[in-house]
Amino acid sequence: MTSETKASIAIAGGGLLGRLLAWRLSRRELDITLFEAGDLSMPEGACWAAAGMISPLSELVQGEKEIYTLGLESLKLWMDWSKQLEKQTGREVEFRQAGSVLVAHGKDRSELAQFLRDLHGKLGTLEKDQVQSLDARGLRALEPALERFDQGLFLRGEADINNHRLLPLLLSALRQQGVTLRERTKVGCEQNRVCFTEGQEQFDCVIDCRGLGAKDGIEGLRGVRGEVMVVESREVVLQRPVRLLHPRYSLYAVPRRDGRTVIGATEIESEDMSPISVRSSMELSSALFSLNPAFAEARIVETRVNCRPATLDNRPLIHNARGQIRVNGLYRHGYLLAPAMVQQVEEIVTEQLLQVV
Ligand SMILES: Cc1cc2nc3c(=O)[nH]c(=O)nc-3n(C[C@H](O)[C@H](O)[C@H](O)COP(=O)(O)OP(=O)(O)OC[C@H]3O[C@@H](n4cnc5c(N)ncnc54)[C@H](O)[C@@H]3O)c2cc1C
Repeated sequence: MTSETKASIAIAGGGLLGRLLAWRLSRRELDITLFEAGDLSMPEGACWAAAGMISPLSELVQGEKEIYTLGLESLKLWMDWSKQLEKQTGREVEFRQAGSVLVAHGKDRSELAQFLRDLHGKLGTLEKDQVQSLDARGLRALEPALERFDQGLFLRGEADINNHRLLPLLLSALRQQGVTLRERTKVGCEQNRVCFTEGQEQFDCVIDCRGLGAKDGIEGLRGVRGEVMVVESREVVLQRPVRLLHPRYSLYAVPRRDGRTVIGATEIESEDMSPISVRSSMELSSALFSLNPAFAEARIVETRVNCRPATLDNRPLIHNARGQIRVNGLYRHGYLLAPAMVQQVEEIVTEQLLQVV
């Protein structure tokens, strides 16, 4: 690279991380090429199957404080970035910060108390505006469809994003910003080099965002299967993500503006990508029915299965070597963590390029 030419960056993988990173980096004086094994207009990665919840507190109960802290950073970034993306593309991303509601059936009510205890244990103190206990009236004021329940918790700061709007909008923004898009191009990543079956290409920096496709470079990277169903109901309308706590089986339901609701629960230690099982679809359906029996008439319009890319300790990973950066292991927290991770990678890229000049 000379001072007159732009630095060249290759990003491998056009899923959530790859698109977001390409969007941020292409706003600077950089020459960005995005390589994707599949078709960018029909994403195949975990990003498309996901429910798009951005829920730092809900995830903290099962996870590490590091995830929570990064999640809070990401939340702030999503607020800003979603507005920027909307301005740029003239279309709505459907980022919503309306909090989330947790409920449990009578016999499982202790799950709500346990949830609070776990949060206290991890955070020490809890602010009232972080978690609010709801009685039947408070619950109905927020979620009229949850009339069966007489108590719940409201996590005011949590959010969600409609990934089926976000990912295509990011693609349009990449086109607008002149990113070179190389679809149906499966690549390997090396220092300063991207390799294909027919050869290789040199770059000032290669950023590996291939999710599960990066197993050749990240020891222990594994897939954790997730299954979701999308239902359409005219009768039951939720206002925000709802989680039904249960000792063995927890359901989440994320409503979209078009009357559809994405529901999921399962996390299976398997890389099987075959369609949803009868057992999972029955369990999801009956948990949904137990939220509100009028869901019985909902139509199942779609099912999705994919595997979350996870490291050995389920923590996100950024590996920085000169001329090559690997970012991976977003596991069940892709939407929760991606902006904070992308920002860290942007800083590393800047440092690396300063060393090259
Ligand atoms: C059912 C389900 C529900 C989820 N719900 C949530 C949620 O509510 N909230 C949340 O925060 N997270 C959620 N997640 C997790 C989230 O989807 C992932 O953490 C996130 O998608 C990971 O992003 P990524 O870019 O690393 O990988 P991916 O999104 O998988 O993208 C990787 C991309 O790399 C491409 N690729 C692979 N190999 C190659 C190669 N050799 N060359 C070129 N391209 C390649 C793939 O085709 C793909 O497009 C969910 C996941 C699943 C499966």
